[in-house]
Amino acid sequence: MRWPWSASPPPRLDDPQADVLLQDLLSRDASRIHAASSRLARLFSAATLDALAPHAERIEQACQGMQLGGALVSNDVHLKAALRRLRYWRERSGCLCALYPDYLFFDPRRLIEQGHVQLLQLGVAEDGWGDRHRVACTNCSQQWDATDREYHYPWWEWIVVADD
Ligand SMILES: [Zn+2]
Repeated sequence: MRWPWSASPPPRLDDPQADVLLQDLLSRDASRIHAASSRLARLFSAATLDALAPHAERIEQACQGMQLGGALVSNDVHLKAALRRLRYWRERSGCLCALYPDYLFFDPRRLIEQGHVQLLQLGVAEDGWGDRHRVACTNCSQQWDATDREYHYPWWEWIVVADD
């Protein structure tokens, strides 16, 4: 018996990165889905997001009922963040920086290296553990405080800095 999702072959995409991610996300292979969705949840390439965004429903359907596992954090948080990113992109809802608070794994150090945010000030978290990065989005200038957190695994708390 064939699974319904293998009845028609997955579409191929012209953007090479999008194509690799789509084949992984439709693979029904938990480790490929995990790796691809954690990448997609932090992806900024407009061409790749454009190519993948129309396939959000197909990806969601293909992953339905999958046991994605995950020891300390359930791996479906990556898939949920990836799907949310595609829909946010498709609806032209605004700057991608608005998604920082919704996904625990946006490391401000990496975003600074990649040029997505600019470091304005490095301080200490109010509880004294870890750093607090005051950054500005290089796309829309929104300012954020990104604070190192740890609870079984490192994560980052993002809080918008209000203008005053
Ligand atoms: Zn922004």
